[in-house]
Amino acid sequence: MEIFKVGDLYHVGIAVRNASDTAKLYQKTLGLIVEHDETVPDQGVRAIMLVPKDSSSSAIELLEPVVDDSSISKFLEKRGEGMHHICYLVKDIYEGIESLKKDGIEMIDHTPREGLNNTLVAFAHPKSLNGVLIELAQKI
Ligand code: ZN
Repeated sequence: MEIFKVGDLYHVGIAVRNASDTAKLYQKTLGLIVEHDETVPDQGVRAIMLVPKDSSSSAIELLEPVVDDSSISKFLEKRGEGMHHICYLVKDIYEGIESLKKDGIEMIDHTPREGLNNTLVAFAHPKSLNGVLIELAQKI
């Protein structure tokens, strides 16, 4: 069987208290532009994706909690603002989940769930991956 491998780095997730203010700051100081802005009540977050202008670079995803008990609120309480996760694109998210599980990685999501911007996503637990929360995303 072929070895499972992820595709391009899709985005780096950053937990923030106020996504609009942070987006403005990053636009002004880093010249990034807003690619996508979406609130997902299910996950209790608002997400703003920013990319460098005229570039095929990966994005950053600013995550602001919109409810008190979202995973991002808990993260902010514990650790404050900062890097939250890294997301890789995969061709087949089901294959990705199965492959990681087979390699002993603890998955937070055993089945894919709907992500932002027409994706299916699944998170792997940071304790299995040297403290880094890894998200797999498949575009649909
Ligand atoms: Zn993400």
